[in-house]
Amino acid sequence: MSAGTKPVWLLDIDGVINAITKKPDPSVWPRDQWVRTTAFSGDDIEWPILAATPVLDFLRRVHEKGRAEIWWHSTWQHYSVNVGKALDLPEWPVLDCPEFAGQETFIATALVERERVWWKFPAVQRLLAQGKRLLWTDDDAKFQLDFRKKREWEPQALVVAPHETTGLAPRHLRHIDRWLA
Ligand SMILES: [Mg+2]
Repeated sequence: MSAGTKPVWLLDIDGVINAITKKPDPSVWPRDQWVRTTAFSGDDIEWPILAATPVLDFLRRVHEKGRAEIWWHSTWQHYSVNVGKALDLPEWPVLDCPEFAGQETFIATALVERERVWWKFPAVQRLLAQGKRLLWTDDDAKFQLDFRKKREWEPQALVVAPHETTGLAPRHLRHIDRWLA
């Protein structure tokens, strides 16, 4: 990861750019602004992807203007790039995350051992310890992260946790735009 003051944007996929729903909410983004595609996740399944074009355009603009370094931080791990390709996004690296132990373990862990550290968390702490300004968009942050933790991190880090059925909404993009400014 290069040095510098450019913020790092850790981007989750499901529940952030992929809305987890069959019917997207037209009150969040108009009906004609949703696109459907699929992406291969390594388990012989082409997963459905439902994304809002204003969110994709916002990400492209942030990337093109160099406002943030965008890194995938998702259970998709190195298959994240397939989602990026399916949505015609620029190529972004996947955040190195040795704590990732597979989705099944993660779900079981989340259900059984509520005290155990979320696998996504140590990588975030490492970036913060390096003094990185950090934007972290993850729908699960609202369940997995202590609200006080998010407060402690401000203003170095902004955590945005959209609703999983909509992903990033207009108000989130406005908030992110202000934070990146
Ligand atoms: Mg998610």
